[in-house]
Amino acid sequence: MNYRQLFQTILPDERIADEPDQLTEYGKDRTKVIQPDPAVIVFPKTTEEVQSIVRLCYERQIPIVPSGGRTGYAGAAVAPDKEVVISFDKMHRLVNIDIESGSVEVESGMILENLQQLVAEQGMMMPLDFAARGSCQIGGCISTNAGGLKVLKYGMTRNLVLGLEVIIKNGEILQLNSNLQKNNAGYDLNQLFIGAEGTLGIITKAILKIVPKPRQLQLALITVNQFNEIIPILREAKLQSLDITAFEFFTKDGLSAVLAHMPSCRNPFDAFYPYYILIEIDGGDNSDRLMNFIETLAEQERITDGTIASGSQQFRDLWGLRENISESISMLGNVHKNDIAVPVSSMSRFIPEFELLVRDHYAQFNVLYFGHIGDGNIHVNVIDPSGMDINQFESMARELDEKMCRLIGLYGGSISAEHGIGLLKKHLLPFQRDLLQIETMKIIKECFDPKGLFNPGKIF
Ligand SMILES: Cc1cc2nc3c(=O)[nH]c(=O)nc-3n(C[C@H](O)[C@H](O)[C@H](O)COP(=O)(O)OP(=O)(O)OC[C@H]3O[C@@H](n4cnc5c(N)ncnc54)[C@H](O)[C@@H]3O)c2cc1C
Repeated sequence: MNYRQLFQTILPDERIADEPDQLTEYGKDRTKVIQPDPAVIVFPKTTEEVQSIVRLCYERQIPIVPSGGRTGYAGAAVAPDKEVVISFDKMHRLVNIDIESGSVEVESGMILENLQQLVAEQGMMMPLDFAARGSCQIGGCISTNAGGLKVLKYGMTRNLVLGLEVIIKNGEILQLNSNLQKNNAGYDLNQLFIGAEGTLGIITKAILKIVPKPRQLQLALITVNQFNEIIPILREAKLQSLDITAFEFFTKDGLSAVLAHMPSCRNPFDAFYPYYILIEIDGGDNSDRLMNFIETLAEQERITDGTIASGSQQFRDLWGLRENISESISMLGNVHKNDIAVPVSSMSRFIPEFELLVRDHYAQFNVLYFGHIGDGNIHVNVIDPSGMDINQFESMARELDEKMCRLIGLYGGSISAEHGIGLLKKHLLPFQRDLLQIETMKIIKECFDPKGLFNPGKIF
């Protein structure tokens, strides 16, 4: 019996896919260096169907890769070895919005942007937000503990999950659903599945926090000449009690890449500057709150230029400069992505030291930084402008990764701030977690997945 015939026993034929282009498409995420090779893709519509799929896989020892919007950067949703891919594309219902409790219940396949819209229609806000919003799914966001643009104010996905429904082991169901803000009755098992990259079980539903909409969002793009001028501006904004909702940064190279590859984007200034800060606040009742802050910075000669968004189009335009960087730089040639964190207060010392490391040992590479600097998270992209052989480039970039990880360790930082470990960063895990921690993770996996069939080979 082939896989199609096997899954026809529990799913209608049209929700089983095994054409080569479908296998390639659903067997990968945004990573390019690992070849997908799944056996079959299945599209459940209900929790019960997911249970049946898992039960069948457990009986037959078939490995499973849960797949969301496939926007991950760590190879965590890649199926390289004849796995069954469970796609949540057809399981995306809104179950309930509860404004009084501040929660929304959805199926795992709900696309983040659709959820944001549904919640906004009810007068509330879903605070999780980042550039992949149009494709990433809630199950994927939870399984990667996604961060994004608003972490500074609202926290990571971990801080937004109130309850989960998860299929574990031989199709057993864990009902961790609850829209309680407070529940200290024993261990919070929800937390184990958040950021687990699908290795502990399959998330079928989630209850997430929603919040009141900000009263008056204000957005500015300001520029500085030196990297070490960025964090003192964040410090000042905090001391001024600005209600900061986002504090992002990018460089001249990042802006140039966006302008070169995104025809709809334009430079809001007449010149280019070394560093750009995008600061968004909730101004509350004061429509000049951000303007006053920027004017003071200008009077003190702490910034070189600046513009404030007036109107929703300009808001989108300024955000577009930051949000299109990730896609634009992938057009610059071979790019090796890293996603690191150091304490915000160490950032001004870490980056110059890392730049020195690259200059001394890997002068042939360009390094392009951007990201969520307000919460200590920077995307470090190593780019090879010479077009060297991809394998040679990857092996040099991995060597650089190890040196970078040692440096990150000295600063008490993280080798993966938000993208996870997946297949791509497995070799870096020992820089972050000691043997005891990794052994404990394996014991936890054994509890929920004794046969090791959920996303095998990922993380460790
Ligand atoms: C342009 C762009 C910008 C991005 N910006 C950010 C950012 O700012 N912050 C950030 O954190 N990430 C960012 N990402 C990375 C990515 O979008 C996130 O990691 C996102 O959370 C992945 O969601 P997904 O649905 O695409 O998951 P996938 O990539 O499909 O899967 C990710 C992991 O989740 C598992 N999984 C998926 N669904 C389930 C389920 N139902 N049950 C159990 N496991 C499941 C998969 O097996 C895999 O391990 C960005 C990506 C792009 C392309």
